[in-house]
Amino acid sequence: MFKALMLEQPEAGSTAPRVSIADVDESQLPDGEVTVRVAYSTLNYKDGLAITGRAPVVRKYPMVPGIDFAGTVEASVHPDFRPGDAVILNGWGVGESRWGGLSQRARVPASYLLPLPAGLSARDAMAIGTAGYTAMLCVQALEEQGVTPAGGEVLVTGANGGVGSFALAILAARGYEVIAATGRPEQQDRLKALGAKGIVARETLSASGKPLAKERWAAVVDSVGSHTLANACAATRYGGVVAACGMAQGLDLPGSVAPFILRGVRLIGVDSVQAPMPRRRRAWQALAEVAPAVLERIAEEIPLSAAPEAARRLLDGLIPGRVVVNVN
Ligand code: NDP
Repeated sequence: MFKALMLEQPEAGSTAPRVSIADVDESQLPDGEVTVRVAYSTLNYKDGLAITGRAPVVRKYPMVPGIDFAGTVEASVHPDFRPGDAVILNGWGVGESRWGGLSQRARVPASYLLPLPAGLSARDAMAIGTAGYTAMLCVQALEEQGVTPAGGEVLVTGANGGVGSFALAILAARGYEVIAATGRPEQQDRLKALGAKGIVARETLSASGKPLAKERWAAVVDSVGSHTLANACAATRYGGVVAACGMAQGLDLPGSVAPFILRGVRLIGVDSVQAPMPRRRRAWQALAEVAPAVLERIAEEIPLSAAPEAARRLLDGLIPGRVVVNVN
């Protein structure tokens, strides 16, 4: 038997699942080649949506949420993994359409797993989690397009969130001049400690704006979407690059094509869930270089029992940075 956060079918008329810490028998785990003894999972925005039912993330009930985990292989019928191997997982629909990481055990296809990157503990890997890994995918997407620190200011939106905090810290460590957009000005000391050279108020970006604004950003990492992304594109300099990965403000994109056809701005979409393995390996290898002090500044640890309440606080914008969940 092991413990797992369990989401069950919402009552009629509600979208919020019934949430409990359940005792589960290993025979109830889904089919899969590798059984993992989970050490840490995390709370990402998507986990918040799943646990609260504020968006239809969960495809079927009962569901164990948790889109990422780090742990040790307990049993494997696949030649790539042996008992005792340290592994991590991000995405692939885990915690959405098959049981996820907010649990002491998980069983998954071998093709979903990566070895724990050298230099990181299981806790470090989950302090980074899907948010940090996605932030690295965004930074690497910008650099693949030729963005360099010499190019000028880079805007990071949703800067106090998980993706935003890591994007900020990674870019600053690489020598970029990063400007953080946030709705939480009281957190500005934290943002400056992570490397922000300047702060802009979220409100300057979050309302309907002009098709083109004064050119400012050499590049943008956006985890917010909607008007914020449209306004970020409108103020991106000629030939600049915008990496879009999130929708914390909304899924819509109420802008114009003007930045793309008049300034040659490039909008690059970033997906972490189905990203191919070589791209994941490259991102995680680079993440192993994130300084331990940065991880300490960004992540707080909670027990499994605190996950439901923390999920609500995360969606209400009350948690700066990341939440690591110690499932044991
Ligand atoms: P967090 O909740 O940690 O961060 C989101 C941040 O966005 C908040 O901290 C806040 O930053 C800002 N924000 C929240 N609401 C609004 C709003 N209404 N208007 C403007 N800004 C807002 O979430 P994550 O960092 O984990 O995820 C961020 C986004 O990225 C989510 O939409 C998530 O689904 C997406 N994502 C996508 C992935 C992919 O594969 N493409 C992978 C991982 C995440 P502040 O307080 O500084 O203003």
